[in-house]
Amino acid sequence: MGLIVQKFGGTSVANAERLRNVARIIADTYRKGNRVVAVLSAQGDTTDELIEKAKEINPNASKREMDMLLSTGEQISCSLCAMAIETMGLPVVSLTGWQAGVQTNSSYSSARIKKIQVERIQSELDRSNSIVIVTGFQGINKFGDITTLGRGGSDTSAVALAAALKADLCQIYTDVEGIYTADPRHVKGAKKLDEITFDEMLELASLGAQVLHNRSVEMAKKYRVNLEVLSSFANKPGTKVKEVAKQMEKTQISGVAKDKNVARLALVGVEDRPGIAYKVFSLLGQNDINVDIILQSIGRNDTQDISFTVKRSDVDKAKEILEGHKSSLRFEHIDVNKNMVKVSIVGAGMLDNAGVAATMFGALYDADINIHMISTSEIKISVLLDEADTDSAVQAIHDRFFGE
Ligand code: ADP
Ligand code: ASP
Ligand code: MG
Repeated sequence: MGLIVQKFGGTSVANAERLRNVARIIADTYRKGNRVVAVLSAQGDTTDELIEKAKEINPNASKREMDMLLSTGEQISCSLCAMAIETMGLPVVSLTGWQAGVQTNSSYSSARIKKIQVERIQSELDRSNSIVIVTGFQGINKFGDITTLGRGGSDTSAVALAAALKADLCQIYTDVEGIYTADPRHVKGAKKLDEITFDEMLELASLGAQVLHNRSVEMAKKYRVNLEVLSSFANKPGTKVKEVAKQMEKTQISGVAKDKNVARLALVGVEDRPGIAYKVFSLLGQNDINVDIILQSIGRNDTQDISFTVKRSDVDKAKEILEGHKSSLRFEHIDVNKNMVKVSIVGAGMLDNAGVAATMFGALYDADINIHMISTSEIKISVLLDEADTDSAVQAIHDRFFGE
């Protein structure tokens, strides 16, 4: 018995039958004597459909109005789910982000939660003994306007609520049975993990495994939220995300992830003198462009090349900014490649295992896949590849580490 936050993603609430299934999971948890706060995403592809609707009217709509629109998806699924629970004769109330006290900053479309004023939820739980259903993905800013947290943000709503309410457990129900060694929908032989550490999951989520919103993992680690990822379709234990995972049968790596939202820019023929890198990356930073992997070539004939990756949505802006400073940066030209992918392996076990990088590169070599850039940290190795090689690269690397 305790307080449990249960989050259900879009596929899990996609239609009436699935909403009834979710209502049953919530009701079962409640009938066992737990207090339940459920956080729901919009049904199926609703959020994408709303974005399309907006584009038909105004392709350059303000972010404030987009948030006003996108937040409606979650309101539909939550009220419908509450209605399904009403038919079971249980006390239930659905709340929007602002009714639930989710206060955010004002960065429309990518707002951050500042605080959750939990009084309303707490009183529904304690005084009315109700099941509380809260819209994921949204909050309210200091102007009283609706904000959204960024795509996939309902995971973060759930973890933030679990932290603010000091819940005993936060369960993220989704359409796969837990966290796997790679995306089980695309990689043959992907294995479900019983446990994974916050640090490894944070890397995997940041490197493209969308199964959890990376900010939700960050928050779960910070507030020590007991987190579990499991399926709303199969009644089975899922994957626990914890500070320290069991050491038994520790593998070198925990998973493989891919991220297609990358593009590479190369400044070719830059003068080889101090201060150039400083100038290039300051310019990009001042314009809110995040740079990921950086590679600087050895100088020749007093020139060098500087290559780096940015998000695909930032590449045209980055090029324009640097072209605008061509005379002071004195490069020959800028080469842009938007058809790239970043494939990464993650695992705390690689810290004390020499040769993990060689194993990864060997798998790519045997599959005849060329590596353009490499970046490493203590618990991850990423390579930049041609987008066309994505699936074969992920499969080859996964087979090498996890194959029989
Ligand atoms: P939800 O709508 O429930 O939030 P998401 O689509 O956001 O679900 O996340 C679940 C999906 O994440 C799965 O269907 C799966 O294809 C994908 N995924 C990517 N990498 C992994 C991984 N390592 N383990 C599990 N699922 C993964
Ligand atoms: N509905 C939102 C999205 O599709 C939030 C979420 O599902 O987590 O991104
Ligand atoms: Mg999701």
